[in-house]
Amino acid sequence: MSETVENKETLERFQNVLGRIASACSTAGRDACAAQLIAVSKTYHGDHIRPVLTAGHKAFGENRVQEAKEKWPALKAEFDGVKLHLIGPLQTNKVKDALGLFDVIQTLDREKLARAFVKARAQGASLPDFYVQVNTGAEPQKAGQMPEAVDGFLEMCREDCKLNVVGLMCIPPVGEPASDHFDLLREIAQRNGLERLSMGMSGDFETAIAHGATEVRVGSAIFGSRG
Ligand SMILES: *Cc1c(COP(=O)(O)O)cnc(C)c1O
Repeated sequence: MSETVENKETLERFQNVLGRIASACSTAGRDACAAQLIAVSKTYHGDHIRPVLTAGHKAFGENRVQEAKEKWPALKAEFDGVKLHLIGPLQTNKVKDALGLFDVIQTLDREKLARAFVKARAQGASLPDFYVQVNTGAEPQKAGQMPEAVDGFLEMCREDCKLNVVGLMCIPPVGEPASDHFDLLREIAQRNGLERLSMGMSGDFETAIAHGATEVRVGSAIFGSRG
């Protein structure tokens, strides 16, 4: 496929996702821009992402520090105002790299990581906004705070570590109705006074919007299947 055809298709898929987000907001009786699109560009080369940047989109998600480091500094230099969200697990030894790249960390999931950010701040770094990842399905292999532990964890992050936690994120288990997990995440956010909910991906972002998502993380529906 020629590059221009490919670019055109990416742009069409992007516009289509924006339209579906707007309809889902309207169906849910929510403001048209109540749910922000995070375009998840992981695995895609800069040239594949560029049409969406050229269209003026600013919010992108990546799940690996190393990969983001390889492609985003050049793209950020080319396009003003990009906000990059980390949506994958972060090792404490990558905190410094992550701080140089990401504007939002959506995967704050354990005390050791919170403490690593505190240490970086003490050394002069300014810290981004955070989302705490919640393992709503209590899956052993998955990152995130367990639902019963998250209130205490949030208190530690906010009171003790003084991290600017703005919301919660989750990745529902495969094969279960995502809406139950979206509702659980919203309840946890409400009782902790948090406004932002990062939930919903290509397969379920409209459901997530109906259940209160303020950020949807959409990759393949925009950039095509990752193969
Ligand atoms: C890859 C990824 C997404 C996007 O998934 P799609 O199904 O391609 O939309 C969203 N959130 C996280 C955490 C991801 O790793």
